[in-house]
Parts: sequence; structure tokens; C-alpha cells
Amino acid sequence: METIILKADNENIKAVTEKAAEIIKQGGLVAFPTETVYGLGGNGLDSKAAEKIYEAKGRPSDNPLILHISELSQLRPLVREVPKSAEMLISHFWPGPLTLIFKKTDIVPYKTTGGLDTVAIRFPENKVARQFISACNVPIAAPSANSSGRPSPTRASHVEFDLKGRIDMIIDGGRCEFGLESTIVDVSGDRPCLLRPGSITVEMLEEVLGKIDIDKAVLSRLEKGERPKAPGMKYTHYSPSARVVIVRGGEEQVIAKINELISSADKGLKTGVIASEETKDRYKADEVLVIGSRKDSAEIASNLFKMLRKCDYHNIALVFAEGLPENELGLAIMNRLKKAAGYEIYDV
Ligand code: AMP
Ligand code: MG
Repeated sequence: METIILKADNENIKAVTEKAAEIIKQGGLVAFPTETVYGLGGNGLDSKAAEKIYEAKGRPSDNPLILHISELSQLRPLVREVPKSAEMLISHFWPGPLTLIFKKTDIVPYKTTGGLDTVAIRFPENKVARQFISACNVPIAAPSANSSGRPSPTRASHVEFDLKGRIDMIIDGGRCEFGLESTIVDVSGDRPCLLRPGSITVEMLEEVLGKIDIDKAVLSRLEKGERPKAPGMKYTHYSPSARVVIVRGGEEQVIAKINELISSADKGLKTGVIASEETKDRYKADEVLVIGSRKDSAEIASNLFKMLRKCDYHNIALVFAEGLPENELGLAIMNRLKKAAGYEIYDV
């Protein structure tokens, strides 16, 4: 299949999103930018489109898709009820990088929800995303536009690398502002529960709702047989081909430990460090990839997946990453990094 790739800018945004909407109406798939990561979109009310999405990504079909809307009025037909907690979160954080889980109505196909009676909904803020969804006139089912297991795409070139030839179109809208997938909060039960941390932090959510529950899968590795509430959280994720190892602790101890691990690594292995602006000159690795300043966790978040992809680009076999404190945005960054590392962590 030929994949059309078009840049959307202020002049042609209307023409590009209308062309993309035409493809969606014919049952095709379009990758599009959002403020979190690029999404792979299909008609959210069409089981066949959902099947195509799973196939293009190589995604297990029990891992449900998020439905994206471009106006609040699109929410009601999709969900059985909008609880008070959801109303409060919506008024604070929509449009934006927050996904909410509701009880679904019959028009939402089980193919989209991986067989669940609940549905994930997001109202993105990104202008291209909104104009595209709005032109489609249906909710758009969209997981991240990467091959399953690979780091999520934060540039159109990442989507092209993973999915070119497997999807109909890519809308290039430049780099994604936040760079981590949306925060997911389940509001379908008695108490709101965080299922996936993201750029809307626990601290921000608790300012609106008071104390919230946090699913165990967010904080730690699950035991064999345990099931996370967000089915996607059980899969290995974000992995470059390299073995990823996290080292966390005081700055000097982390630098010393990483250099020690590099010295003792097999000489045939190409080594790398994902380092901060402040520490980048202290490492003896073959490649040092600079993720951003330690003082700017938003910059680190927005560059994380790009760095993981760069490991492959540079053929790095063993890469070390500096750990961060797990509060505010650090919780989401470390959640993704731990999965990339398969939970291989040194505390020093
Ligand atoms: P992605 O679109 O790649 O960011 O993945 C979507 C995430 O949302 C996965 O972790 C899914 O498991 C989660 N998700 C989608 N729908 C539901 C749902 N109904 N209940 C719980 N988690 C969901
Ligand atoms: Mg994903």
C-alpha cells in the first residue's frame, strides 16, 4: 500500500485534514499528530477499522483503543453516564492530555474496547488533531502510531519508520508538545483511579478531586497472573533493541556507577548513556544522548521516546539512563523508562 505523507501548516490544514477525513470515511487509516504522541486513527464506530488498526500495529486485540472526539457534544452518545468526578476533570483538563474511562453504550463496538464494557475517551487539544476529527464527523479510534512494543512516535518520521506501507496516510504536524501518552483515569467505578500516569500529574488530579486511587501497575511490576486495569499496561513497551538499565540515586553516585558498569561491560558491546545537559560530559560511553536539562522535566518527557529510538539508530547494545525522582512529571517519565528497561534498576 502506498502511504501518502502530507505536512499540515496554517495554509493547507483544511485541505490536508479533509483529504484525511475522506480516507477515514472509506474505512482507511490515518496517522495524525496530537499534543501527546502521534495517533493511528480509524473510524471509532466501525469494527473493521479497529481490526485494521490492530493489524497495522501488530497489536494484541485485547488491548483497547482510545476514542478521540473534537467536541464535548460527541461524548454523551458513547457513554452510559458522566459521573461528577468526570465532570470536574473534564472542566479542568479537556481539551488536553487526559483520557477518561466510562461505561460504554451499544454504539461502541467491542472490537474497539477489546471486549470490555468500558470505553476510553480523549478530547485532544492539538489543532491539527481537532480539525481532522471534526472533518471525519465520527469519533476516531487511535492508539499510538508505532509498531506494537516500540517507543511511541513523537515525530512524523517515527511513524513513517514503523508504519510506512501499512497505513493510508500520515499527517505531519511537527513534534508533539508533551511527548508522553495521555494520563488515564478510570471514572467508571465507585472511586476515580489512575491507570496510566502522564503529563496531567497525580498532583494536578488531586488538586481537583482530592486523594485518588492509583492502580498497582502504575507503581510496580505486576506478578505473573496479575491483571492491570488498563490492559495495555501489561505489555512490554517502548523497547529499543538495546538493553536498557536505569541507575538512580545521588548525582555523583549515579555517574560513578554508570561509568563502572560501562568499564565492566563486554568490550564488543556498543554502550550509550541517556544523560542530562548537566552530566553529559562525565560519561565514558561510546555514545552520550542528551535528553534535556535536569531542571526541566517537561523537556525530558518530550524527548524520552526520541532518545529510545536514537539508541537503535546508533546501534547501541547497552544503554544506561539516569533515574529521576518519581513525583509530578517524574512519575510518568519513570513509568515509561522502567518498562523500556524491563525493570532493570540499580539504586545507588
Ligand atoms: P495507546 O493508545 O497506545 O496509548 O494505548 C491505550 C491505552 O489505554 C492502553 O494502555 C489501554 O489498555 C488503555 N485503555 C483503553 N481503553 C481502556 C478501557 N476501556 N479500560 C482500561 N484501559 C483502557
Ligand atoms: Mg501505545
